[in-house]
Amino acid sequence: MGTPYSAILTLIITAGVINVLMGIYALSGRSKVSMVRTFVAFSLMSAIYTFGSALELAAGSLEEIILWIKIQYLGMPFLPPLNLLLIMYFLGMEKYLKRSLRISLFIVPAITLILVMTNEAHHLYYRDIVLRPDTLTPKADLVAGPWYLIAGAYTFGCMIGGVVLLLVQWRRKKTYRFQLVTLLIGLLLPLVGDFFYLGGVTPDGVDPIPVIMTVTSAAYMWALASRGLFHVVPIARDNLFESMRDGVLVLDMEDRLVDYNAAAATIIPELAAPDIGHRLDRLWRQHTDAALLSRDAGGEAMAKASDGADIQEIPWTVEDRSYHYQVRTSIVRNRGGLEAGKLIVLIDITQRVQLQEQLRQMAYYDGLTGVYNRARFMSLGTSMLSEAESAGEPMAVILFDIDHFKRINDTYGHDVGDQALLHIADLCRRALRTEDLLARYGGEEFVIALPGLTAARAESAAHRIRRELAAQALDVPGGELRMTASFGIASMERLADGARTDAVEGAGADAGTKLKRLLKQADLALYAAKQGGRDAVRLAEVGGASA
Ligand code: GH3
Ligand code: MG
Ligand code: MG
Repeated sequence: MGTPYSAILTLIITAGVINVLMGIYALSGRSKVSMVRTFVAFSLMSAIYTFGSALELAAGSLEEIILWIKIQYLGMPFLPPLNLLLIMYFLGMEKYLKRSLRISLFIVPAITLILVMTNEAHHLYYRDIVLRPDTLTPKADLVAGPWYLIAGAYTFGCMIGGVVLLLVQWRRKKTYRFQLVTLLIGLLLPLVGDFFYLGGVTPDGVDPIPVIMTVTSAAYMWALASRGLFHVVPIARDNLFESMRDGVLVLDMEDRLVDYNAAAATIIPELAAPDIGHRLDRLWRQHTDAALLSRDAGGEAMAKASDGADIQEIPWTVEDRSYHYQVRTSIVRNRGGLEAGKLIVLIDITQRVQLQEQLRQMAYYDGLTGVYNRARFMSLGTSMLSEAESAGEPMAVILFDIDHFKRINDTYGHDVGDQALLHIADLCRRALRTEDLLARYGGEEFVIALPGLTAARAESAAHRIRRELAAQALDVPGGELRMTASFGIASMERLADGARTDAVEGAGADAGTKLKRLLKQADLALYAAKQGGRDAVRLAEVGGASA
């Protein structure tokens, strides 16, 4: 090839080869399938275009030139929309890429191809193709027809569209700006070349685009080989970040917020405001009393995850609605292992916490009256007893059972019986001090632990309840219901007195055992009150036997 264009020719052919190789390389990578298909199409179309251009340069007659131009058009018109698609895939915009849209992008190129192939019949694309008189090898002058302008505008539109999309994403996709730059170069270079070509600046009217495609191809190739331009990881990471249900916040060394995902913006609605640079702690305090990064605060309940993250569960409110979040805070290190910032993940555990609260309610409280159940009474009462003991203070228990409760059920029905139980629980709650422990002991039996009270003072408390009960009737269908109850009382000081006479059992028994003994004695006293005619209060006998 002795023509002056041989250098350009070699360049163009190299570009064509590179394009073919790129197509093959992309097929072998771990990449997004849809994107790879587009990229392979792009590479092959580029190859057809560049080979066609090379052979046009080497052509010896007008007929040959026209043939190679037609070959170029098998690839060239499809490149701008393919490039645009590629960019959209890269930016994770698949959701906008409906099949119909993808197809419609190729309507104008398809018409261009048809018109070029049949140009002799209508001259809609090229008004005329004439040989230049003044060139060393045959060169053609192309006179633009109407569709040439439409196709040109379309090409330009696709490229500008791609540039705009890339620039819009520039701020958001910090992690892979390198790839964005490569894609931008791939778009801008042909655009610049086009201007030169259309402006008639290029030597001998040679179309510079195939040469520029060499540079573009090389840039794509380099990006592909060195950074995995079309590999799925950065895009997947970005999509994952945005679509996560957990809120993610990224802080820099000064605890300034540098990034967050969509879920974080619903957890902290103020983040929707445009200024992202502000300090997070101010926003944090609007939603919770728990300290942000409470390692510094100290004392907070904090666990350690297997990955080294600090874990903490905190209450959270947004506009009067309550939530619970598990907060996982971990240090982000740069490649050198130095601390670069912090990663905070907020996991919604509201449902779990609510369920736990429900279970706790069911485990601790009586479902009908809302007072403690017997099991909870035993555990709280045991602690109360051991505290009273170590403080050297008295403590008493009252056990009472409603008189002739069966009759209430029989006369008014079970529902009224339930209402009566609620009535009694409310009445007791009002009559007692906050430190007293009230529980439903059994069917219609209640128990009260009274810290700091001797038997004598517990006795007057029981009388107070007995009088209240007698005084406050319950409204029932067809009248009023008055109830009475029988009370048994046991106390620590009397138990201790008894224990002195009974060294084997009493001394050294643990608080749980002592509470059971108190209850046993109170039960005996209650039995005595029933035996004595009901509506009465009885003290347990010193030493265990009831009066
Ligand atoms: P006494 O004066 O001897 O205590 O007579 P009583 O009728 O109260 O006898 P007892 O304590 O043996 O009977 C308790 C009754 O309370 C039996 C049971 O049907 C009823 N009861 C237990 N739990 C409930 C409840 O949750 N709701 C209702 N409506 N009745 C209950
Ligand atoms: Mg009863
Ligand atoms: Mg009973």
